[in-house]
Amino acid sequence: MSKSKPHKTICSYCGVGCGILVNQDSNGKITVEGDSDYPVNKGMLCSKGMNLNYVAQETSDRILYPEMRWSKNHPMQKVSWDEGLDRAAAVFKSIIEKHGPDSVAFYVSGQCLTEEYYLVNKLTKGFLGTNNIDTNSRLCMSSAVVGYKKTIGDDNVPISYEDIELADTFLIAGANPAWCHPILFRRLENHKQKNPNVKIVVVDPRKTQTASIADLHLQINPGTDVVLYNAIARRLFDKKRIDKSYIEKHTTGIQQLRELVYQTSYKDAAKICGVEISDIKKAAQYIGKATGFINMWTMGLNQSVIGVDKNVSLINLSLITGQIGKPGAGPFSLTGQPNAMGGREVGGMANLLAAHRNLLNEQDRIDVANFWGSEPISPKPGLTATEMFDALDSGKLKAIWVICTNPVVSLPDAKKVERALEKANFVVVQDISHNSETTKYADLLLPAAGWIEKEGTMTNSERRISYLPKVIDAPGEALHDAEIIWKFAQKMNFQGFEYESISDVYDEHCALTKGTNIDISGLSHKRLIEEGSFQWPVPHETHPGTPRLFEDHKYETSDKKAHITTPQNILNLSEKVSEELPLILTTGRVRDQWHTRTKTGKVNRLTTHIPSPYLEMNKIDAMERNINDGDIVDIYNKRGIVKVKVKLNFDIKEGVVFLPMHWGKIQGNDFGRANNLTNNLIDPTSKEPDFKFAAVQVSKH
Ligand code: SF4
Repeated sequence: MSKSKPHKTICSYCGVGCGILVNQDSNGKITVEGDSDYPVNKGMLCSKGMNLNYVAQETSDRILYPEMRWSKNHPMQKVSWDEGLDRAAAVFKSIIEKHGPDSVAFYVSGQCLTEEYYLVNKLTKGFLGTNNIDTNSRLCMSSAVVGYKKTIGDDNVPISYEDIELADTFLIAGANPAWCHPILFRRLENHKQKNPNVKIVVVDPRKTQTASIADLHLQINPGTDVVLYNAIARRLFDKKRIDKSYIEKHTTGIQQLRELVYQTSYKDAAKICGVEISDIKKAAQYIGKATGFINMWTMGLNQSVIGVDKNVSLINLSLITGQIGKPGAGPFSLTGQPNAMGGREVGGMANLLAAHRNLLNEQDRIDVANFWGSEPISPKPGLTATEMFDALDSGKLKAIWVICTNPVVSLPDAKKVERALEKANFVVVQDISHNSETTKYADLLLPAAGWIEKEGTMTNSERRISYLPKVIDAPGEALHDAEIIWKFAQKMNFQGFEYESISDVYDEHCALTKGTNIDISGLSHKRLIEEGSFQWPVPHETHPGTPRLFEDHKYETSDKKAHITTPQNILNLSEKVSEELPLILTTGRVRDQWHTRTKTGKVNRLTTHIPSPYLEMNKIDAMERNINDGDIVDIYNKRGIVKVKVKLNFDIKEGVVFLPMHWGKIQGNDFGRANNLTNNLIDPTSKEPDFKFAAVQVSKH
């Protein structure tokens, strides 16, 4: 078969953002391979990325044309795009007229391309008159966003992947990159193999594959991270391993932190965390002696009712040791989704404004509204992800438009989400696939184009903006998500949505970043396509991009100093275990699945690693319950029940059980959906849910 020139694109799964070459033969057959020229992965791909061709070519599950029902009692029927969008516009107008703009909302996704994110944000905040636009990135990164803002002034990931090869000490907290960010982990693993002096500390209640390469695994009790990082900080103070000169010149807040960390003895800290005092001291020794120290974290810290406190207490370790703004050093949040960063850049969350402007700042709101030619932007932050579904449940919110996400499986307390969607007056679901359990709640179902069926841009975990080309046509009548949004805006008679191409949207977004700390006004669409990916900021047209931030130690705070921030809460505020519900349930991902399996679930070879949901449980907890390996068990609390096979080991801490988050209802019942059990608590500032801590009991079925 003859091959055409490969198309360079980016993997659509995780925030590592690997480069992929897409080949199409003369019969239209697609194959993929790692792009060896791309700086992120240098040709490597993980199991998910290397099977993306199957996802792209298997279209039997695809939504092919708009479908609509005239009332909840009517069946869905095929309609034209005009009919569907006319109805959506009429319903949105009528609801807004009757109940005000805050009665409608958009719930979108970290998998949306930047241009789509930009447009929904503009539509909602500038033209519908509400800030009710939030994203499933709220479920993974919002605690990190607040952590960065509190300490270094803004949502700026300071470092690059290339810093991994320049560091000699890593603290990986609440993350399992071996499974969830595999190519990044390969780089770390290779680096350690070549440099045996490299030290890795892993903080996790489970002995994961990541923990298996650690020099030190701190198997803490869930929710005790703040106590641990404070104890490590105390040891750094004790051993005079802090960077006094850096602290004096470039930070504030050291005294308050010092006072706080000395309030807890090593003995108490070790007891609370469930680790040895000697291990706390060893972690501090590694960090204190590091020439380059990187701390990496993700959901184990972020998805917590004290997620922001966990973030700041970890970032403090980088600040008190002066390990930021230099090669091989810095705090590094690992982004879960491929474009959660792009969404944050365009302000695609209920409390953000475009281009890192501040929703609470009047001048910023005026500037953005003037740029868009819109009505004034409301200063009131909108409803966040879980708040939207609470508001649907209470009747305050009447209509919701869901784009590229599956809240019926992915949000906490899933039964409440189902009830909320049933109560909604009008639900629009815009997606590629019928595999999403959320589609069945739609009053209007809109078919969207998928990966390689549309063009646009994404930003990965290291601020790298890349272009994704359209390679094949979308099936049926599916349209680019951005086009669906601008067509809807036109139906609403809003001015400013007369786009002819995606590059029009990209150029507008770039222009709006001018003069901000994420300025990409020097990165035209043409330059991005011709020269390849760039790390922001790129403020002028010969600027090479910015691999590392804060090398001048001028931070984005009002006094330009890094703020060592005392956490508000030392102890966890999750729900409490009890005699009836004595086990702590934590949820997370497995290696070959992605989110709610709408894509990975249809690739046979990705279901061989772990074919079905399971409960991981410590053998001692199992023995007490007369449970044997492979038994079917019930996991339950007052919110619901899950029934799965149990896998027993000593790798998970006693008193803790783990369920993967990917599976929804299986064959019409509830038996795999972890979010039947998760709780409704959220961090009060970041509004990120507390997925990592629910009180449950387990018994043999
Ligand atoms: Fe895709 Fe992430 Fe795997 Fe890279 S590491 S191939 S971005 S899923």
